Amino acid sequence: MKNKVIFAGAGPGAPDLITLRCCEALQNADMILYAGSLVNPEILKHANSKCELIDSANLNLEEIISTLQRGIDEEKNVVRLHTGDPTIYGAITEQMNELDQCNIEYEVIPGVSSLFAAAAALKTELTLPGISQSIIITRRAGRTPVPDGQNIADFAKHNATMGIFLSISDIEGLVDDLIFGGYAPTTAVGIVYRASWENEKILRGTLEDIAEKVRTSQITRQAMIIVGNAISKTGDKSLLYDANFAHGYRASAKKITEATRNR
Ligand code: SAH
Repeated sequence: MKNKVIFAGAGPGAPDLITLRCCEALQNADMILYAGSLVNPEILKHANSKCELIDSANLNLEEIISTLQRGIDEEKNVVRLHTGDPTIYGAITEQMNELDQCNIEYEVIPGVSSLFAAAAALKTELTLPGISQSIIITRRAGRTPVPDGQNIADFAKHNATMGIFLSISDIEGLVDDLIFGGYAPTTAVGIVYRASWENEKILRGTLEDIAEKVRTSQITRQAMIIVGNAISKTGDKSLLYDANFAHGYRASAKKITEATRNR
């Protein structure tokens, strides 16, 4: 039986923020094709000394596929390593479609997305009762367009928490779209540059002042932008731990008191 290609999420950067499953795949790999622009080289230290390491940064789709195909033909254990979680802006579908054409099987190992590493760096929760119970994961239209109805301004009207990828380079334009779409200028914004890397940087502000802070800090790439008042930590308490709220694993304190009284 032919080997499979394993698409694996390398996490946001820190070498210990990969899954055990990804780590095992790297240890067993004979060939790792990694997205060198964002994958921390430290993660490749999990690979064994005989493993062939190939940076895909300069390869086009055809070259990527022929490299994966060669690995499979040579009966190698092949890992295609993507940053964060491979299912978010990973361009894995086009690779999978080509592998289907070549009758090469594959599987996917999830990873810690930079969105969640950034939220952790901000020590915040993205879904806060009374503020936002939804997260919009998106990017601003740039050189790559977005489909109709999916512009930042279209989404902004929901006032939900937004995790914005790939959009730091025109922070002024982004802020204009967010305010035009419906967020108050006082809405909280957190920006994390290289979340979980040693040179991680955190900026906090509001839509009114964040662009200036980004300009001063000279962050122009590799940043996650989280918008929404959930990150200002001012919402309601959750019902989950409310003493008077019962759920499958806990009776409510009120009910327990009543039950004791009725005994
Ligand atoms: N699949 C990846 C995203 C790839 S798109 C994931 O799940 O994280 C690349 C974009 O992701 C960057 O432009 C940036 O917006 C974001 N990004 C990737 N790694 C990051 C990190 N360590 N810190 C902050 N943002 C990061």
